Amino acid sequence: MTQDVPGDDDLACTQVVMLITDYLDDALAPADRARIDEHLADCDGCTVVLDQFRTTVRTTGTLRSEDLDRLDPGTRDDLLGVFRRWAAERPGA
Ligand SMILES: [Zn+2]
Repeated sequence: MTQDVPGDDDLACTQVVMLITDYLDDALAPADRARIDEHLADCDGCTVVLDQFRTTVRTTGTLRSEDLDRLDPGTRDDLLGVFRRWAAERPGA
């Protein structure tokens, strides 16, 4: 354990948002899930995003892009805003 990998302990908000669908699908490794839980405990912004995703999943049963069209406009705009923001901030993607 001599290597100090940046971000190994603290996830960036964009990373959390990118992983949130897997988080809700229970598709993450337990260690990754724990890191997101830790981040959420300290980050109101990501907690709000998670709530929005949860609501979306509950409404549509999934998070496919075509399902966004069936959301009410306010929720959809919120989600799309979040997507755009993290997509714009994603390094190298
Ligand atoms: Zn965050």
